[in-house]
Amino acid sequence: MSRNCLVLHFNMHAIITLKAGKERSLLRFHPWVFSGAISDTKGQPSEGDIVEVREKSGKTLGYGHFQTGSITVRMLRFGNLFPDRDFWNEKIAAALEVRKRIGLFPGGSTNVFRLVHGEGDGLPGLVIDYYDGVCVVQCHSTGMFREREHIVNALKAAFGEKLISVYDKSSETLSKGVSEKNEFLFGDEISGKEVMENGHRFAVDWVSGQKTGFFIDQRENRKLLGEYSNGKKILNTFCYSGGFSVYALQNNAKEVHSLDSSKKAIELTETNIALTNKGAQHKSIVADAIPYLRNIEKDYDIIVLDPPAFAKHLSAKHNAIQGYRRLNEEAIRQIKPGGLIFTFSCSQVIDMELFTGAVMSAAINAGRNVRILHRMHQPADHPVSIFHPEGEYLKGLVIAID
Ligand code: SAH
Repeated sequence: MSRNCLVLHFNMHAIITLKAGKERSLLRFHPWVFSGAISDTKGQPSEGDIVEVREKSGKTLGYGHFQTGSITVRMLRFGNLFPDRDFWNEKIAAALEVRKRIGLFPGGSTNVFRLVHGEGDGLPGLVIDYYDGVCVVQCHSTGMFREREHIVNALKAAFGEKLISVYDKSSETLSKGVSEKNEFLFGDEISGKEVMENGHRFAVDWVSGQKTGFFIDQRENRKLLGEYSNGKKILNTFCYSGGFSVYALQNNAKEVHSLDSSKKAIELTETNIALTNKGAQHKSIVADAIPYLRNIEKDYDIIVLDPPAFAKHLSAKHNAIQGYRRLNEEAIRQIKPGGLIFTFSCSQVIDMELFTGAVMSAAINAGRNVRILHRMHQPADHPVSIFHPEGEYLKGLVIAID
């Protein structure tokens, strides 16, 4: 019996052998195998198959998802063990355990968090956001998409009764044709829910909203804005569902203006403002941020700049830097003396040094003195594996302008 299993097992997966020396990054737990590192492939793996990766000497390094392209394998498990059902249960349980340690689960004033942050949780290509009992899954690789059943079972095992439903929203994050449609994989088919973040109420709609429905990664930075908001006039550009605006208003901002180029986003913002009864101090604006900033009164105490990723790929890096420079330059020119700008970049390929450089160029062009008060990052539920620095994507500065 065991011998049969062994034979079956060998037939089930292809084997990828690396060129000599190319095992080094894997031995350091970097989870990607690039196409150039491969010496030969035994078997014919299809998109998303689990393959075994071996070093040149024949020793097994681990198992991962195969995908055609520059990143050919995304490692799931290092060592000799095949990633079976127990593997998925262990990984999801471990991810939840970290969120418990951070104090996000079972939750009090916050019941929305990122449960799985890809490589940062040892699950390359997988994002799961948790909205008070509802898990929204986004797969970024075909292999992960094919593991949906394991993922749902592991979520059921980890959350038990607390799990209301699991919604798969991978059709927007996968190449065309891999996922036909977004759908519920388990539980009640509810499209949205009111959740709490640091005691603030937000209506989230994961079916029609952007990404998984809410930008969870700004939780701590919104809190920081709240600390500076008392009595201030604030412009929140790229507001989406009004996260920063709600914190500002709840912390007694004198006035908040929320701007987004999407009418739908502004409607979400207004819904969230209405939950807090602070509508009187709020105005919403549907506009393109850069031309709008060019013509504003110079009477804002604080401006928030949180644009979508300007660089989605390495090739777009130069243009992205110019984009950040232009946007920040307008805001630095227009802010009231003594004002603050909360400025962000969520482009993975633009690191803190490059981003700071873009803001410095903006300050030079605007001809104003600028000081950095805070450096901001993604929060602890978006962990970064020390072996995979590529997992760090959100960075921001609070700058004071004389
Ligand atoms: N700060 C938000 C998240 C921002 S997401 C939060 O805390 O939830 C980026 C937003 O920028 C999206 O809502 C998108 O509609 C908007 N956007 C994209 N291009 C824009 C532009 N040129 N001007 C204004 N808004 C824009």
